[in-house]
Amino acid sequence: MDTTTKYSRQTILAEIGSEGQEKLVNAKILCIGAGGLGCPALLYLAGAGIGTIGIVDFDKIEISNLQRQILFSVEDEGKSKAVAARERLYALNPDIEIKAYDEELTAENVLSLFSSYDVIIDGTDNFAAKFLINDAALKLGKLVVYGAIQGFDGQVSVFGEKEAPCYRCLHPQEPQSVIMNCAEAGVIGAVAGIIGTIQALETIKLIVGHEDFKPLSGRLWLCDTRTMDSRIITIPKKHDCPACAKAPEEIILQYSSPICTTTTAKEIICSDPLLKQAALIDVRELAEWEQGHIEGAYHLPLSALQINPEIYEPPQDKQCCILYCQKGMRSRKAAEILAQAGFTEIYSLRGGYEAWCQYQAD
Ligand SMILES: [Zn+2]
Repeated sequence: MDTTTKYSRQTILAEIGSEGQEKLVNAKILCIGAGGLGCPALLYLAGAGIGTIGIVDFDKIEISNLQRQILFSVEDEGKSKAVAARERLYALNPDIEIKAYDEELTAENVLSLFSSYDVIIDGTDNFAAKFLINDAALKLGKLVVYGAIQGFDGQVSVFGEKEAPCYRCLHPQEPQSVIMNCAEAGVIGAVAGIIGTIQALETIKLIVGHEDFKPLSGRLWLCDTRTMDSRIITIPKKHDCPACAKAPEEIILQYSSPICTTTTAKEIICSDPLLKQAALIDVRELAEWEQGHIEGAYHLPLSALQINPEIYEPPQDKQCCILYCQKGMRSRKAAEILAQAGFTEIYSLRGGYEAWCQYQAD
């Protein structure tokens, strides 16, 4: 295909031109996460003709992803997100190189994955991954286009430029509260689309580097899409920052998967006969409980257990206790908290309330 025609609508822009297009074609970008943020970002970047695109994601496509993960279709259910994303992007632009990494980003593989790319796009949904991306990028001197969404709020920034603040200047430490990812927290696809699209645009601006472009380095763009109020705040560079105040070789990479951290909790599946002899506790928040819960269950939200696990009272007349949440992540966390507090015979319901509803329907 004639690439001159293909990219003509962007090369006609004075800020891009054939020179800018050449830079895009020679650029190598790595997107961490092919989810709500990664999907729109990847579509626009592949469309713009970024020469080499890497996609890191170890997740499989679920039907509940499709409202925001616009690279995928119903028939992709169960497929690797990284591999399916590559297929879809090749269909859009067969002239570029696309690599799929069907693996979790870890402290062990992050440096080798980042080393052959210029710009990293953070499309992750948890603090642990965001810290790892930040720290590894600082070590290697790579640029990161950061994006995050929570409910109707979204934010974008650029990290990694010399002397600029980093993600840890914004958030020095991982919050101690449980971080819900999009599998559990609510999210509107269009909000993820806005933020992912801005990440794509920031990436293009960084690569093309026209003098009129002012990427969000050192600045955080915030948008409340309920009202569409948006603002930009300057991120102060912390001189005692645990990451960017250090020499790159002194930065120690650490990562514990937000999923792996709760695997010590004992899990049980919906068809297990033990379910009939157990006390059921719903650890979701009040609004979720009020929308529907398993009949006969008690309500004891994770947020309360985190403050004081002693509020849990072991059932007198039941063999054990089964905790459940929406999808089975928060209940694992709750089971772990109770186990650490010395309570026994606690299980977490795999797949949570959604799996239970599905099991009842089958
Ligand atoms: Zn910093």
